[in-house]
Amino acid sequence: MTVPSRLQALVRERENGRCAYCRSPEELTVTRFEIDHIVPVSAGGATEESNLCMACPSCNRYKGAHQTAIDPVSQQNVALFHPRRDVWEEHFAWDEQQIRIIGLTLTGRATIEKLRMNRQSLVRLRTLWRKLGVELEKA
Ligand SMILES: [Zn+2]
Repeated sequence: MTVPSRLQALVRERENGRCAYCRSPEELTVTRFEIDHIVPVSAGGATEESNLCMACPSCNRYKGAHQTAIDPVSQQNVALFHPRRDVWEEHFAWDEQQIRIIGLTLTGRATIEKLRMNRQSLVRLRTLWRKLGVELEKA
């Protein structure tokens, strides 16, 4: 599904160049971030602002067409984090070093696991960003 360029620009502007899931800043990576349909088109998700977010290619790929995932602690199948409906800070927090994301809720933990939000490559990048003084906690 092609997202009209005006809508893409709006989402990019709104999200300040960050992945709505892992919060990576696009400008500090070598990839162009994508516009994610939060509820996938295949599940009836609309191409409208309330269903779109900016996602790094890795988060987007791991998310795929999933809307739920298993929370590794409770083993319950729960809804994935919805960047337009849910508040990031209510589901996630940074560890003390600001390098790993901690899940605060079932949804937070399930989303971290499904999207591999603490994947090794990302942890390495965050370690570098931290040394450069890049703030990741702010949207
Ligand atoms: Zn991401």
